[in-house]
Amino acid sequence: MIVDCHTHVDWQGYSADDAVRHMDELGVDKAWVQSWESMDAALGPGTYRYLSPENCIKAHNAHPDRLLPFCGVDPRRENAERTLREYVDRGCRGYGEIKVRMMLDNWDLIHMYEVCAELGLPVLVHIDVPLPGTRMWYGGDIDALERAVVRCPKTTFIGHGPGFWREISGTADRSKKIYPDTPVKPGGKIRKLLAEHKNLYADLSANSGLIALRRDLDHARKFLTEFADKLLYGTDIYWSEHLDFLRGLGLENGVLDRILGGNANKLVPEKR
Ligand SMILES: [Zn+2]
Repeated sequence: MIVDCHTHVDWQGYSADDAVRHMDELGVDKAWVQSWESMDAALGPGTYRYLSPENCIKAHNAHPDRLLPFCGVDPRRENAERTLREYVDRGCRGYGEIKVRMMLDNWDLIHMYEVCAELGLPVLVHIDVPLPGTRMWYGGDIDALERAVVRCPKTTFIGHGPGFWREISGTADRSKKIYPDTPVKPGGKIRKLLAEHKNLYADLSANSGLIALRRDLDHARKFLTEFADKLLYGTDIYWSEHLDFLRGLGLENGVLDRILGGNANKLVPEKR
């Protein structure tokens, strides 16, 4: 069973029907469809594209067995909590992606995370840190994520994005690139956080997840094996790169199975 933990619809020219056709070609059984809602879009660097939670539910209604909706209701929206609860009643299975210009341990987000714990929704967060010459940031940094993970022990968090994956290496603070590509050095915060916090997982999707592995293949094999229970296959991009790469590493079958779908199935089981 293969589950893509991070896709979007009406994204890169793919409708919900196109998404399912693409999954069929790749042999992917299910995908989590992430929304992107941010009340502060005007502050962003220009890449913001509103992907409504409502549309994720619509995709699910069209393909109930294949597309599982995540609804990342911005906590600053009017009636945010009530809206999320209504989405859950209509089939929503997770809270994401959370890609907003708020620190991830903002009190209003913390409240939503607590609601997610009650409702059994995993929370998928995107992090970007500002780099020289850019004003782009989302979520704060991995330390803000750790504070949220500690404050909400009953909530399951899934880390994602360039600001998260740069922390695979102890050199994260020194790299000025959005996608650092030098060999991984000891002391990376991701390793420490995944080991210490049982409610934290990581989403391998997008260039951020892929380059974090590709930058150091020896490290990647060890990392994927050591944290096989904490890592989730995802794409975020309509391509087969992640699947090809993971299958090409010569990982043990048990490891690969958990990363490709086993872990995702535990976080979002068949029936609520
Ligand atoms: Zn995404």
